[in-house]
Amino acid sequence: GFKCGIVGLPNVGKSTLFNALTETQAAQAANYPFCTIEPNIGNVAVPDDRLDKLAAIAGSQKIIPTQLAFVDIAGLVRGASKGEGLGNQFLGNIREVDAIVHVLRCFEDDDIQHVENKVDPVADAETVETELLLSDLESLEKRVPAFQKKATGGDKEAKAAASVLGQALDLLRAGKPARLTEPKDPEEERILRQAQLLTTKPVLYVCNVEEANAATGNAHSDAVFARAKAEGAQAVLVSAAIESELVGMEAEERMLFLEEMGLHETGLARVIRAGYELLHLLTFFTVGPKEARAWTVHAGATAPEAAGEIHSDFQKGFIRAETIAFADYVALGGEAKAREAGKLRAEGKGYVVQDGDVMHFLHS
Ligand code: GDP
Repeated sequence: GFKCGIVGLPNVGKSTLFNALTETQAAQAANYPFCTIEPNIGNVAVPDDRLDKLAAIAGSQKIIPTQLAFVDIAGLVRGASKGEGLGNQFLGNIREVDAIVHVLRCFEDDDIQHVENKVDPVADAETVETELLLSDLESLEKRVPAFQKKATGGDKEAKAAASVLGQALDLLRAGKPARLTEPKDPEEERILRQAQLLTTKPVLYVCNVEEANAATGNAHSDAVFARAKAEGAQAVLVSAAIESELVGMEAEERMLFLEEMGLHETGLARVIRAGYELLHLLTFFTVGPKEARAWTVHAGATAPEAAGEIHSDFQKGFIRAETIAFADYVALGGEAKAREAGKLRAEGKGYVVQDGDVMHFLHS
């Protein structure tokens, strides 16, 4: 599955947010028996209205949303790349996630100490990013010369590695993240991916504001949004305090509470959706009278790869995929009517899955 790592300096609200994420899920877990909850990993259902619409049309008995995993990665302090605090363990944990959810303190509260003694989320973001950058820099300073040496000996793969990782190293030396590297071809792309650098991972900033600022934000969160925009990252507004109050509320109570706060949906829903976008994921559906279920694949996945999400045998023995676009399924009123209207397509091995496809796989 796909994993988002929650990072940030101490006392910014990471645990509050993570607990709200997972407790909400724990409350729902009874409905999803396969949903396991580990101490620092939470599998979170991705909210998707489309799934409910499909289930209503098909009369499905069960609704199973797709999931995203969140990992609480504690222990970042200034100097982590030098092994301060839980530095090395922390950086190792980040290496394993697909995207970084970076929580920034945007609330003022004299009772809660700030490690740098000042609320300045943009400076905090830089502190954390510097540690990631230094760690990448150290790892490439060692590796690039070795590849360069091998490349002069005529090794083709080493030549590609020296080129793409050399470019990344130049960026890092200039204080820029390795995500700005531009690989020349698919091989360079693969090498860069396999290098598992920390600064190639996509970042979502979560601005943790006080309750009164939950709908509008404040000067601190405005500064973070401006920074995110400048560097092509994403940012969302959340009040961790509100999110923890929402835990355990019934749906109706929650709606009223959110309305009072001037909010349309929970911050958690926004974080989950942004995480999904960050990872370039898309959703396809399988729908029948027994269950309506959402599945996750990376953008660009082919029909056999999608089948493989359900079962590896479906991928191996893939014959074709009967596919209905979500809009057609809903507008025409289900599978049978879509078929009559000629909107059920038979797609082969090369078909690239589109977000919202309702699929049925035929396999040997
Ligand atoms: P972590 O160290 O980043 O995991 O931070 P915690 O989630 O443990 O939060 C640190 C402290 O800040 C706790 O006492 C929280 O109750 C408090 N806190 C978290 N979010 C907010 C907030 O939005 N406003 C205020 N005033 N306090 C918060």
